[in-house]
Amino acid sequence: MNDTVKYVLSEERIPKFWYNLTADLPVPPPPVLHPGTLKPVGPDDLAPLFPMALIAQEVSTEREIEIPQPVREVYRQWRPSPLHRARRLEKALDTPARIYFKNEGVSPAGSHKPNTAVAQAFYNREAGIRHITTETGAGQWGSSLAFAGAVFGIEIDVYMVRVSYNQKPYRRALMETYGARCVASPSNETASGRAILAKNPNHPGSLGIAISEAVELAAQRDDTKYALGSVLNHVMLHQTVIGQEAMAQFELANDYPDVVIACTGGGSNFAGIAFPFLGAQLRGGKHVRVIAVEPSACPSLTKGAYAYDFGDTAHLTPLTKMHTLGSSFTPPGFHAGGLRYHGMGPLVSLVKELGLIEARAYHQTPCFEAGVQFARAEGIVPAPESNHAVRAAIDEALRCKEEGVSRSILFNLSGHGHFDMQAYIDYQAGNLLDLEYAEDEVALALAGLPSVPAE
Ligand SMILES: *Cc1c(COP(=O)(O)O)cnc(C)c1O
Repeated sequence: MNDTVKYVLSEERIPKFWYNLTADLPVPPPPVLHPGTLKPVGPDDLAPLFPMALIAQEVSTEREIEIPQPVREVYRQWRPSPLHRARRLEKALDTPARIYFKNEGVSPAGSHKPNTAVAQAFYNREAGIRHITTETGAGQWGSSLAFAGAVFGIEIDVYMVRVSYNQKPYRRALMETYGARCVASPSNETASGRAILAKNPNHPGSLGIAISEAVELAAQRDDTKYALGSVLNHVMLHQTVIGQEAMAQFELANDYPDVVIACTGGGSNFAGIAFPFLGAQLRGGKHVRVIAVEPSACPSLTKGAYAYDFGDTAHLTPLTKMHTLGSSFTPPGFHAGGLRYHGMGPLVSLVKELGLIEARAYHQTPCFEAGVQFARAEGIVPAPESNHAVRAAIDEALRCKEEGVSRSILFNLSGHGHFDMQAYIDYQAGNLLDLEYAEDEVALALAGLPSVPAE
């Protein structure tokens, strides 16, 4: 039998709509609150940061939102992304399970993030915006938005967490190649950055700090808006092209997943692959087990509180109800930089609260072990973030073997690891540390959660 099984859709099969899970949920999502008044925010409160079209998507309850033709045109460069059956991995594991993966590593920036970067840049350009500020941790979001800015003629300023800025010169070079400006954060370009540098000139930075810097600048300038690469509802929405395509590809395969798996940082690639399947289930379709996989060193879904919290360190952002470790918590250093965020997207948090999904946490060493096993079988080196999904998929396949049942397992390969080879070098050299998050630090950060009037 042919080992290489790939389900390819033609370009006309790129989805024409994004899918909005809110339309099918049994309860409405909790409102987003203003950081000052603690009252639900209105569109005007968000207008300094985002163009109206994206604010409308953020609060939309429509099931389907049309994808503008210019966005579909850009998607054509790499979408529909392929769905693969991982036959060689199945053989290596000697499992009766059918393992499938959706490869989002085929985009120009090498991950799922351009799915939303392109949409966000498009709506900003339509609104006459000339500059977008943003933050980036490991550099994947920054390079995705830099690519989208190049496509739509928008200048991009990326505040990059200082440790990553120093450790990941190739991601920085990629952003600059696309024409973006990349600044190490904390920087002295903003009041929030200067305040932190005054206390500690060698501060390593964090995603929460970089968000504060980018938000501060966007709020001050009329021709400048802010873009976030995860967490928000409109980001989840844009990523649903992944799951919709996967559903069509499963039809080609004459199969349907029993289990859907993705890694979770802010939750967007997870929402992208899982929400269309969850929606079908909520509308009376087949039940799917959905598993969110996070790092043990930053376990917001499995160990965080479900509470209102800020998205950033300087507390400039609105408050959202989410699973959080506290906005002052700084996760320990580990290689999956895209998963080092204190909170989880509100919609992903809500479906967890509603019992519609499962969550689990893994340490990085077993994830890299899985990633290497996957690379040797399938030839693709996953991003360190994606290795969390690979680990869970392999564990589910091994469970099938133990139980002697054949289940269909789908996981999202959120990106390739070509810019993360230092992490693989460290793994091969036995130098990876499986750090625990500091429980006392999380307790402290959670004690500092904002108090919000009872709903
Ligand atoms: C950013 C990133 C993630 C984590 O972000 P989500 O919003 O949780 O998807 C996961 N994988 C890759 C490759 C990323 O770049």
